[in-house]
Amino acid sequence: MSQPDPRRQVPRMDAVLADPRLAEAFDRLGRPAVKAVARAVLDEVRQSRLAPDAVLAELIARLPGQSTTLQPVLNATGVVVHTNLGRAPLSDAATAALTVASGYTDVEYDLADGSRAGRGRGALSALHRAVPDAGAVLVVNNGAAALLLAVVVLAAGRPVLLSRGELVEIGDGFRLHELIGSAGIRIREVGTTNRTRLADYAEALGGTDDAEALGGADDVQAGCVLKVHPSNFRIRGFTAAAEVAELAGLGLPVLVDVGSGLLHPDPALADEPDVTSALRAGAAVVTCSGDKLLGGPQAGLLFGDAELIGRIRRHPLYRALRVDKLTLAALEATLTGPPPPVDRYLHADPAMLRQRCTAVAAAVRPVVPAEVVPTAGAVGGGGAPEQPLPSWAIALPPHYADRLRAQQPPVVGRIERGRCLLDLRCVPEPDDALIIRAVLAVAEATHTTDAAEPS
Ligand SMILES: *Cc1c(COP(=O)(O)O)cnc(C)c1O
Repeated sequence: MSQPDPRRQVPRMDAVLADPRLAEAFDRLGRPAVKAVARAVLDEVRQSRLAPDAVLAELIARLPGQSTTLQPVLNATGVVVHTNLGRAPLSDAATAALTVASGYTDVEYDLADGSRAGRGRGALSALHRAVPDAGAVLVVNNGAAALLLAVVVLAAGRPVLLSRGELVEIGDGFRLHELIGSAGIRIREVGTTNRTRLADYAEALGGTDDAEALGGADDVQAGCVLKVHPSNFRIRGFTAAAEVAELAGLGLPVLVDVGSGLLHPDPALADEPDVTSALRAGAAVVTCSGDKLLGGPQAGLLFGDAELIGRIRRHPLYRALRVDKLTLAALEATLTGPPPPVDRYLHADPAMLRQRCTAVAAAVRPVVPAEVVPTAGAVGGGGAPEQPLPSWAIALPPHYADRLRAQQPPVVGRIERGRCLLDLRCVPEPDDALIIRAVLAVAEATHTTDAAEPS
């Protein structure tokens, strides 16, 4: 029996796009995006892999939910500030603020007299209220930008003193001293990897004759002292470091990069430096990120002496590093609204986590060999290295890891000692049901029939 040419039966693109059931999709996604999916579906008809009368249903099924390719994921890694997963999840208050700020807004406009006004003044005053010890505050694009800007202004063309124990790489090949060097600022290394004393800084203040290290004698007076929190590693053993309070006595401005964005000491993160303590110890300027422990949007925060912060704000580089209205809105809401998710996740009660894991494991155990095991979560994102967060996890066979990431929404766990662990610390409690659904879907798809292993 001869087949009719399938090409003859391929519906025409304009006929497909004229269907009224697509009107909503045009509004939501735009015509070109819908057309691109339609083209792919019609190709399949052309290749006889899809029946012509199934085109519209298939097209509607394949349309993306929104116009971003970013996908929300469930973070079951137990790492609270996971850089690859977008660091801090925003609070509902911050998310709502994004919507408010998305249209025209008075970000830099005074509605009372119709003139220009201080950009982001609401966010800045919220930040200042959160850290009253600061003379003034400023917000830029990220922690690296805050550090760069502060170093450029404080060093004023002179070398910066930095301990050899603080020449750190933050991640992805990103080294702080290279960032500083890229702005044409020279770093004068002080002390050794494990021990740097106040005297080492004092000696290096007026210059050094360490010709080997510098390729020539250098007797230029230093411009400032930089202290960087080694946020993703610890040096232990025979160590020494100068405190901010000691460095402040050297007579040069001290710039402190605390990195992770704790504004005040947190007893749960005892070794983590905070902005307020650094200011009280005499730091001229303190910088940190907004999307680590603070739990807000990506931002770089600067706190310090009002005159210095004013100079930083007037520097031409500030204009290149400033933040948009969305960041300002989300930051203000993070500071003034209810505690953000990062705060809840960091302080989650292990007993509660265990209970949730037990419930999830019980729900999947008829079809999956699931166990509940003690584990340790982490602060992550360059915060509190080696400070484990005692936690519990659902342990599954290792092949679950890849397949859970292919679910909707994707579930990202971690592999530890040959098992796929799902730590619920950073999963909002109502989403436990989604975890159960994802695990059961993987079990079903892989026809896993193994009975629960005796534990
Ligand atoms: C994370 C971090 C930075 C970089 O901050 P970003 O917001 O990622 O640019 C700089 N310094 C320290 C100590 C950090 O921990």
